[in-house]
Amino acid sequence: MATFRFYEELNDFLAPERRQREFETPCARAATTKHMIEALGVPHTEVELILVNGESVGFECPLADGDRVAVYPKFEALDVTPLLRVRARPLRTPRFVADAHLGALARLLRMAGFDTLYDNRYRDGEIADLAAAEGRIVLTRDRELLKLRHITHGCYLHALVPVQQFAELVHRLDLVGSMRPFSLCLECNRPLRAVAKAAVADRLPPSVRTGHDRFSTCDACGRIYWEGSHWRRMRDRLAALTPGIDGGTDGAGSDPTDHG
Ligand SMILES: [Zn+2]
Repeated sequence: MATFRFYEELNDFLAPERRQREFETPCARAATTKHMIEALGVPHTEVELILVNGESVGFECPLADGDRVAVYPKFEALDVTPLLRVRARPLRTPRFVADAHLGALARLLRMAGFDTLYDNRYRDGEIADLAAAEGRIVLTRDRELLKLRHITHGCYLHALVPVQQFAELVHRLDLVGSMRPFSLCLECNRPLRAVAKAAVADRLPPSVRTGHDRFSTCDACGRIYWEGSHWRRMRDRLAALTPGIDGGTDGAGSDPTDHG
């Protein structure tokens, strides 16, 4: 069995009970994404993007038992705005470059473990160059930026508030399964490294030194992270935005006005 979810007008091709929801269906042995999508009634020419377990794949991807498959339509028909533009070669891991207005979203993405470049001094051309050179998805609320010819992968954010933008992206790109919370430095976007308490003890406030035992650090900026109240608050926020990642949260805990 594999779990499928089709988005936007692709639902029109599905049997009514399968529209706008996740559903499970048996997969033939050695079935590919294209085979299954067409077997469910959706012409492959209408499909622009397929994610299997959160990773972008092609039409020839073999499906295995338990796979989660998200299928997105051509974007011209999706909306007047380009939500996401994908070309022949899909990106295997979601990595991002955020435009100058999306600093808070960039931090949320880093918090969830998604490699996200952000610098409010980036100009449009630099963003496009970074995206092309490093295989990154451009995040923006600027349609003109997405029109730059050498941007092949971009996502237009409809939401205005950062936590809602984050939720929008997680939902649209089916990112829940790809999250690695608290693996990146929020400031530098560099991987965090676990560090022994003794190695950092002299740099900790006394209350932290007595109350916590697990620490990680960023080798770029030297910041030390521990599972304090701020950490727990962020973890709860991620869980609230993404019911299912942490089992049992009811999604009621997010506060869209508090994104600092
Ligand atoms: Zn850092």
